[in-house]
Amino acid sequence: MRLRWASWTCVRQAGLVVWLLLAPWAAFSAEPRVVASIKPIHALVAGVMQGVGAPRLLAPGGASPHDYSLRPSDARAIAEADVVFWVGPELEGFLVKPLDNAKDKVRSVALLDAPEVTVWPLRQGGAWETHDHGHAADDHDHAHDRQAGRDPHLWLDPVNAAAMVRRIVAVLSEIDPLHRADYQHNGAMLIERLDRLNQQLAAGLASIQTRPYIVFHDAYQYFERRYGLDAVGSIVLHPEQRPSARRVAEIQDRIGTLGVRCVFSEPQFQPALIATVIGDSGARQGVLDPLGAELSAGPDAYFLLLSTLSDALRNCLGGS
Ligand SMILES: [Zn+2]
Repeated sequence: MRLRWASWTCVRQAGLVVWLLLAPWAAFSAEPRVVASIKPIHALVAGVMQGVGAPRLLAPGGASPHDYSLRPSDARAIAEADVVFWVGPELEGFLVKPLDNAKDKVRSVALLDAPEVTVWPLRQGGAWETHDHGHAADDHDHAHDRQAGRDPHLWLDPVNAAAMVRRIVAVLSEIDPLHRADYQHNGAMLIERLDRLNQQLAAGLASIQTRPYIVFHDAYQYFERRYGLDAVGSIVLHPEQRPSARRVAEIQDRIGTLGVRCVFSEPQFQPALIATVIGDSGARQGVLDPLGAELSAGPDAYFLLLSTLSDALRNCLGGS
């Protein structure tokens, strides 16, 4: 009896020692420092981290990731991060160098490389190709051209978003195993919600599948393939380009011959030339936003982004 009591005391003391060792660590173990590049990716990461912490968003507001340049505070946040989630060099060219410089300390997760995501090549030819592609005198970082031609706008397909959520859960669980259960639970909820969104969008867009339209820059391939929409061209291939007069004439021609119903601009670029392109063809004008410039950042931003996109297409293309 005496012996058992002694050993129990021993166990209790050992437990106390373990507790004393762990407690300060537990008390000071902050949330992981997580950075996300653009609002839709930030929304998915924020959804996975709910109840644990919040990721930092790099390119806020309506900044276009195609030609964004990093602020000093962004550069600091990257250098101090545990992990940075981004799409890949095809989209956020501004992240290539800072992530490379920090590669010993900061984990870089390019979601274009995530297992299970579907990646399409950039559309070429016909109405998807600009014909004034001479960049010889143009030495700025042209991300689209430099890479192997993957279309980086992969987040505009909720099935891809679910695959990205699985990747985000796996990476965060490795970095911060203490909160693995939270990440897995949040991820499962998010994937269910994405599945419902996908079904709603498919049902809502079915009636406009045969209505041809033209977009400002070629950002919507993932959305269009998922829902079988009839996009017949973009005004520019790269958002930072200005179309040539010949290009504008080709698009005008296309509007006439294909009976294009709508021409969509984007809030990031506000091109005055949409009106010129439309001319007196009778096509309507709408606005599509691939990034959610007006949406407040957070877990809901992804869902609002896709339903806003769907509403804009239906409002412009629907009816008789
Ligand atoms: Zn784009």
